[in-house]
Amino acid sequence: MKNFRKRLIVLFILTCIFLSLAFSSVYGWNSHGETLSYVIENIDWLKNYNNITITPYTYKDVDTELYGPSFQMQFLDGNIGDKTTAINVLTTYADEPDWDMDKGLTLSKLQMLTGGSQGFRHQYYGLGFIRIGIGPERAQYWFDLAKIAHDHGDDYWTFRFLARALHQIEDLTQPYHGVPAPIGIILKNIKSIGTLTNIASNHHYNIEEYQGQMIAMKNPSWLSVLKENSPFPVELGKLKSIEWLGKYATDISRSRVRVLWPLENDFFGENVNKGTGLWYYDKSTVKFATTGSVQEKYDEAILWSLKNFASFSRLLLEYARIKVGL
Ligand SMILES: [Zn+2]
Repeated sequence: MKNFRKRLIVLFILTCIFLSLAFSSVYGWNSHGETLSYVIENIDWLKNYNNITITPYTYKDVDTELYGPSFQMQFLDGNIGDKTTAINVLTTYADEPDWDMDKGLTLSKLQMLTGGSQGFRHQYYGLGFIRIGIGPERAQYWFDLAKIAHDHGDDYWTFRFLARALHQIEDLTQPYHGVPAPIGIILKNIKSIGTLTNIASNHHYNIEEYQGQMIAMKNPSWLSVLKENSPFPVELGKLKSIEWLGKYATDISRSRVRVLWPLENDFFGENVNKGTGLWYYDKSTVKFATTGSVQEKYDEAILWSLKNFASFSRLLLEYARIKVGL
């Protein structure tokens, strides 16, 4: 049993190395900001922050973790001194951690297992007791900076740091951020690692493309799941920390790859298992799901995770209300 476990771990690490070659950029959900906009549009207390002054970034002394060499701090919601709102800041900057912030860094010897420094900071791979990546820690990091900004009386950076914390938590609700493929698929294809890499990449990228397409098309059943006031994953009073919340998000999402994978085979067709290179489905052929279709089942499976995207995001914001003091 022990030997089997050891072999499984070695296999997993080897697989990650090879899979990482394909995942040079890791995005998690497609369009965090737009997806988040439906989640937070009815949070009334956020609307009290409707007259925030855009302030310069003055946190170098406390924001000590490295930024990627190509990262440029952008102000997309106006110029310094202009007015904005909390909802605008959150939805504009929920995508910011994907804007080269975490790319091109040397953080850990293990980062190669997650496709580089961005993957290392945005994922939390797990098999058995092994965990690789610091997604949950990064969520806590940005959350703590939001508190510091709030203590400085700086609403703008309070919400901008919270947007980054939200990004991290949301990434961890994406099942392929917890494990690259179902273990059965890994074992079945282990002899042909190049093929396995391409197959896993095709599943990973096509789910994200499809999710982005449905949000962009404003699919009403998807938007209603995001807007729904579904129960928090854990009681607000029992939440220990944002890092814990990130780990919990991944732990409950990881096994979902076994649900998504076969549905992707059925919905996208055989090409998604193309082992010879990257393949994307043709967006122009996809409309909304009809009753009883495979697409409807696939939607349900993705919406299971998007429900978490919504409830984990709302819980983080309510927790911030108490801990940050909003
Ligand atoms: Zn990300």
